[in-house]
Amino acid sequence: MSDGQWTSLSYTLNTGDKIPAVGLGTWQSKPGEVRNAVAAALRAGYRHIDTALAYGNEREVGLGIKDSGVPREEIWITTKLDNTWHKHVKEGLASSLNSLGVEYIDLYLMHWPCSTAPSEEGNPASAPADPPVAYTDVDYLDAWAELEKLPKSQVRNVGVSNFDITQLNRLLRHAKVTPAVNQVELHPNNPTHSLTKFCAEKGIHVTGYSILGSTNSPLVKDQTLAGIAQKHGRSIQQVLLAWGLQHGYSVIPKSVTESRIVSNFQVDGLVLTEDDLKALDTLKDRFKVCGDDWLPHKIFLDRAE
Ligand code: NDP
Repeated sequence: MSDGQWTSLSYTLNTGDKIPAVGLGTWQSKPGEVRNAVAAALRAGYRHIDTALAYGNEREVGLGIKDSGVPREEIWITTKLDNTWHKHVKEGLASSLNSLGVEYIDLYLMHWPCSTAPSEEGNPASAPADPPVAYTDVDYLDAWAELEKLPKSQVRNVGVSNFDITQLNRLLRHAKVTPAVNQVELHPNNPTHSLTKFCAEKGIHVTGYSILGSTNSPLVKDQTLAGIAQKHGRSIQQVLLAWGLQHGYSVIPKSVTESRIVSNFQVDGLVLTEDDLKALDTLKDRFKVCGDDWLPHKIFLDRAE
């Protein structure tokens, strides 16, 4: 049983590096608000920030890090290679390093197992082609081979995101380097136990995204969840974070609201009982926030059991 000291906890990756268990998410955190959110989080004690080239906010995330006054080496930064950059991995990384204003990334993820053509041929920074088109001459295995070659001085760990068992099995058959992390959608309405069990067996750490159910979450209205939160005298969001942490996932709740950023980090001492976990793991409703309709082909192939 954990002692619930989540904010000082880190998980050891298959590379030996340690990823802080609680981080700040920044998807949909707009330029103009994300800078303050990142600085507020770091001042509140967070030491893990999650962003992506596709979020269009890396520059402001980098400024928020500088504003906080927290030394770079104390902060874990995760960013992600966008789908239109699969033929330009080195350039994608260079773009993120430049925008963030840092010398290295702690964790560089392939955002999706899907290589997508940009609207302007040869220009990965242009929008994805509309309707979306998958490359036929390069796929995520080729992009992974390029990620593996990135210099340690610029990328400490490489990993993947949104990979189901099907894609992980294919990747592991070809890869020289096992991904350190798979970042996937996880919350009680999308617990995906078979995937997380598979990752554990392969030594791949799991980071859970949309752990609060994402924007306007119907999950926060769930009565079982509300009952557990009331019993512990904690917020629904804190219970959702503890659910992820007790399963061994790192969690990256997003907020641009300072009071929420602070309260999402006040999870120490919250330990759910086995019955609480079982009740949350077996909620009847199942839904996924992030679909794959906008991609050129289906990537979510496994069920959310
Ligand atoms: P979350 O599940 O973290 O939920 C964020 C929403 O919850 C926002 O609307 C936020 O509002 C609100 N919120 C946060 N804290 C509280 C609180 N204490 N009380 C009430 N409401 C709250 O959603 P995300 O989908 O953003 O996922 C988290 C992060 O995971 C992303 O930001 C991103 O970094 C990553 N991610 C990765 C993906 C991938 O493909 N790899 C896909 C999706 C997300 P407000 O900000 O207004 O306070």
